[in-house]
Amino acid sequence: MSEIKYPDGAIPCLDKGFIRLVDSMGSDGAIVQAARVSYGRGTTKVTRDKGLIRYLLRHRHSTPFEMVELKFHAKMPIFVARQWVRHRTANINEYSLRYSEARDDFYIPKKEDIHFQSKFNKQGRDADEVPDALKEKVIQYFTEMSENSFDIYQNLNEAGIARELARAILPVNLYTEWYWKNDLHNTFHFLKLRMDTHAQYEIRVFAEGMAKFVKQIAPIAYEAFEDYVLNGMYLSSIEKSVLTKKIPHHITKEIYDDIVYRIVASMNATKPRTENELYVLYQETGGCDSKEDFEIKWNAGNIETGNVFELREFKAKFKDIFI
Ligand SMILES: Cc1cc2nc3c(=O)[nH]c(=O)nc-3n(C[C@H](O)[C@H](O)[C@H](O)COP(=O)(O)OP(=O)(O)OC[C@H]3O[C@@H](n4cnc5c(N)ncnc54)[C@H](O)[C@@H]3O)c2cc1C
Repeated sequence: MSEIKYPDGAIPCLDKGFIRLVDSMGSDGAIVQAARVSYGRGTTKVTRDKGLIRYLLRHRHSTPFEMVELKFHAKMPIFVARQWVRHRTANINEYSLRYSEARDDFYIPKKEDIHFQSKFNKQGRDADEVPDALKEKVIQYFTEMSENSFDIYQNLNEAGIARELARAILPVNLYTEWYWKNDLHNTFHFLKLRMDTHAQYEIRVFAEGMAKFVKQIAPIAYEAFEDYVLNGMYLSSIEKSVLTKKIPHHITKEIYDDIVYRIVASMNATKPRTENELYVLYQETGGCDSKEDFEIKWNAGNIETGNVFELREFKAKFKDIFI
């Protein structure tokens, strides 16, 4: 097997793969700039950029996120590339095995990543421990099959057989590499699907690497993505109706109070403002208390929650369950 060489700035993935950010266009600022075209000059205050990005993401107003472009260079096994390539909105340019000879880079799973087939999920792995002897056998089969196929491939090449045909003898644990360019909105979609625990481990590690770069490029948007999409949860109408019927009122009241507290607290943390700015926001969202009264309430954690926009949305969304 050839020596592993990682390009500058690459995050190693699996045994020989990597992902790195090659280039990017725009950042959080580009999202806000684009949104202002549709929302007008009223939102131009810098301190509101974070709130605006979070609002856009929460409401699936996605086109401003398409103003940010990210170009990655990744090296992954062919079976991972087959899943990755299903994301149709990306622009891809892949290493050609018609043009160049394959390198003997094959994915051999680590012992800790070898699991039994899941009994419950046809597309997953079981948590039960595989006996060490069987793990070693798996690694041995992967290694033998990779080396044998590569020997045959080289023989065919030396005999002058066309590379585009000879490559068909190589297995899907062979590494390929490509440049992958996408906008931030569709990159988030990729990350949502491929960072999920239902995604195969071997693609998840690349998605997790990609996420680190996205976070560097557009930290506010990434934080909003984590809050509202990646770690968020959708309820079906069946789930909602069960919650409504089965959870007693005093419990939903407790949950509601906790969520209200958290949203208010997160609003304060994610939109750091001076006391003066907070009061202006309070007035803009319909608050009528004097500045002094407002400050007393805010400091006591007793702010009228109906004046916090995100809370109003929350109340409307869950009115059947919590009210
Ligand atoms: C856990 C998991 C298991 C999977 N299992 C299988 C499987 O067993 N078999 C299988 O074949 N695939 C499988 N897939 C792949 C899956 O079906 C999708 O093809 C893949 O996740 C890409 O999703 P997408 O189409 O939303 O993304 P993208 O292609 O990136 O598209 C992004 C969005 O753009 C829109 N879009 C793009 N192209 C079109 C179009 N032509 N028409 C309309 N809208 C479009 C859609 O809104 C789409 O959601 C699996 C994926 C995951 C995450």
